[in-house]
Amino acid sequence: MVYLAAEGRYGSMHYQRCGRSGVLLPKVSLGLWHNFGDTHPIETQRDVLRRAFDLGVTHIDLANNYGPPPGSAESNFGTIFAQDFRPYRDELFIASKAGYLMWPGPYGEFGSRKYLLASLDQSLTRMGLDYVDVFYSHRFDPDTPLEETMGALDTAVRQGKALYAGLSNYPPEAIERAAAILKELRTPYLINQHPYSILQRGVEGGVLEASAQAGVGVIAFSPLAQGQLTDRYLKGVPADSRMALGHFLKRDVLTEQRISLLHALNKLAEGRGQTLAQMALAWVLRDPRVVSVLIGASSVAQLEQNVAVLDSPAFTDAELAEIDRLSAE
Ligand code: NDP
Repeated sequence: MVYLAAEGRYGSMHYQRCGRSGVLLPKVSLGLWHNFGDTHPIETQRDVLRRAFDLGVTHIDLANNYGPPPGSAESNFGTIFAQDFRPYRDELFIASKAGYLMWPGPYGEFGSRKYLLASLDQSLTRMGLDYVDVFYSHRFDPDTPLEETMGALDTAVRQGKALYAGLSNYPPEAIERAAAILKELRTPYLINQHPYSILQRGVEGGVLEASAQAGVGVIAFSPLAQGQLTDRYLKGVPADSRMALGHFLKRDVLTEQRISLLHALNKLAEGRGQTLAQMALAWVLRDPRVVSVLIGASSVAQLEQNVAVLDSPAFTDAELAEIDRLSAE
């Protein structure tokens, strides 16, 4: 059936300015790392993308290697985009990245100009797009001069193939150097993408400060720790879960200690009248320097539950202290 976006799609989502830029991003963004490869039904992918857009989730995050197999998330997104979303292109903010292994040989990963620009062309072809809204260097490459990697991002923008540049997983010191180079080049540097959740707080060690200093926003990926901070693993490992199916979330993270932490956090969330997933997302969003939480969802129900984080009550100091105490154990 032909897709017509919901009339009221901008009625309830909240949007926040990304750093010192003209861009507003939704507080909840959708990532296609998992659940959008060839191993997942395209009908579910379409349902999740349609529902996301209907709920005001305008920002969709991809990368060259998302799948499996690598590239298939972009291809599947391209198929759905062509059928459903082409009329809405100007209402969507679409990201892609390059940095991890994409093709064999010496030019298929990391941060060279050769790799980044070839990869962006491939991504655009797979998605059937003329341009992406933001193109990221997916990881810091210690062996390539930062000037070269930043120069490639700048070229992508000058070529009209990306509107903004982004960095992902860069350490604070590299963010500072990269920001200086991009400023000199006058490249529109928009955003830094990093993991951030109750279980993974590395950004607190300099990334948030360096980003604010550079005037760029921070978008937090895996805010649910790939599903751990939900009800998914409270009663074992479901057969259809990422932990059972995937390669990135190993069963050995579910130690006795982790399981009891998850139950304790779940109890705290219940006391707040919300699900553990919603509390975990609200916790990441409590810091105003975090522009958006970048979630994954394997179903429409998960997506809807997560977007409802916008109705969360504010945290009390006691609740925040309790989350710190529990997760420090
Ligand atoms: P999350 O931490 O949000 O984990 C998503 C998974 O959690 C889902 O696939 C689902 O697992 C489970 N889940 C989500 N909502 C619920 C819910 N309400 N109830 C129960 N389970 C739920 O994020 P991801 O790890 O998927 O990362 C999000 C995005 O961040 C990626 O798609 C990608 O765009 C980006 N990213 C970027 C990286 C980078 O290096 N720049 C690295 C990693 C991610 P299940 O499938 O088991 O149902």
